[in-house]
Amino acid sequence: MKLVIGHLYPDLLNLYGDRGNIQCMKKRCEWRGIEAEVREFQLMDSIDFSDLDIVLLGGGSDREQMIVCRKLQEIQKDFKAYVEDYGTVIAVCGGYQLLGHYYDTEEGRIEGLSLVDLYTEQGSPRLITNIVIQNDLFEYPIVGFENHGGRTYIGDNQPLGKVLFGYGNNGKDGAEGVLYKHVVGTYLHGPLLPKNPHVCDYLLKNALERKYGVTELEPLDDEQEKEANQYIVERFVKK
Ligand code: GLN
Repeated sequence: MKLVIGHLYPDLLNLYGDRGNIQCMKKRCEWRGIEAEVREFQLMDSIDFSDLDIVLLGGGSDREQMIVCRKLQEIQKDFKAYVEDYGTVIAVCGGYQLLGHYYDTEEGRIEGLSLVDLYTEQGSPRLITNIVIQNDLFEYPIVGFENHGGRTYIGDNQPLGKVLFGYGNNGKDGAEGVLYKHVVGTYLHGPLLPKNPHVCDYLLKNALERKYGVTELEPLDDEQEKEANQYIVERFVKK
């Protein structure tokens, strides 16, 4: 079995080392004897989504998002078809905002991909903190770090989790991120997947199911990852 992971515009969308998420996916495939190939796409490259099993859109500054958003309009149709066909996507922070219809900033509107029915408005202050969220779909809480000016509103979509500590999508409605088909959007930055191997496996399982009909992943020894995760939960949630 083999998965192809597409990393979109790593030169522009790679805040706080979002690239580490790719390494985590690759490693957890390899540990199970599954081949994983990573393809990086730059702005000038054309993308054939039918070759891809997982797409990562990382975080970026407002300026970088503005540059990327022009290119995204060109690939919108193909990207949308991939998402509607249950292609797996992990979109973090700036990339998450770009999944939606738009991100309104003081400098103007950044047009999104309209892959998921959501939108973002810039607010003040920036929402910066450690964050813990929870969703019964996952065996234990999801932990991370958030740093965003945008406030995202996901309407009737399912969130990735309920905020136990932190701000989440907009600091108001107690929701963080979004789940739509096989798309995960989240404000949790940087080492999201190494800190949350259960989220990594959720993405891998969805991609393997779509490609090969696999419904179970071989378990790995995540004892240390779980301990680290639990430490964060206890530090911020259980006092
Ligand atoms: N520029 C966006 C914001 O500030 C996203 C930032 C990010 O990816 N950290 O809301």
